Amino acid sequence: MPEARAPVTAYVALGANLGDAEAAARQALADLARLPGTRVTATSRLYRSAPVEAAGPDFINAVAELSTVLTAPDLLRALQGLERAAGRQRPYRHAPRTLDLDLLLYGAARIDSPRLTVPHPRMWGRAFVLRPLAEIAPARVPAEAQAGVAGQAIELL
Ligand code: ADP
Ligand code: MG
Repeated sequence: MPEARAPVTAYVALGANLGDAEAAARQALADLARLPGTRVTATSRLYRSAPVEAAGPDFINAVAELSTVLTAPDLLRALQGLERAAGRQRPYRHAPRTLDLDLLLYGAARIDSPRLTVPHPRMWGRAFVLRPLAEIAPARVPAEAQAGVAGQAIELL
């Protein structure tokens, strides 16, 4: 019998700022629950933030907590599949996007491969990640990090 993998708690950030971004975020939350070997165990409320290092309309942001038996690379591939299904194109860096799914944390793992860095290297300076993450997993957001982004504009939807 194949050995069953123990589920890992992972956190995924959702961002969308093209078309009906709110609908895209809600759809993504529903789609995450349908990934193989994966349950959504918590979701933040939806937030709105101005684009950082980017142009275009405001973003809708949220964070989901998953319990998954997928490996981190398999989970990243699954997230990229959902981005593609949402019509994501990558014309240039930081371009507006129908859906961006970033793997923030995968258990306590530290991963540094060409395609995947975990914890996500830019999450600690971004209110649009830390606010929704702190809502569902306050223990994973150090107080200094929260204080560091206190000046960034973000509002509950
Ligand atoms: P960004 O999210 O930084 O705006 P993209 O969504 O286009 O940019 O991602 C660019 C690349 O980042 C992806 O091809 C992916 O391989 C890589 N990447 C590295 N670490 C992560 C991570 N933790 N979560 C999501 N993508 C990651
Ligand atoms: Mg991304």
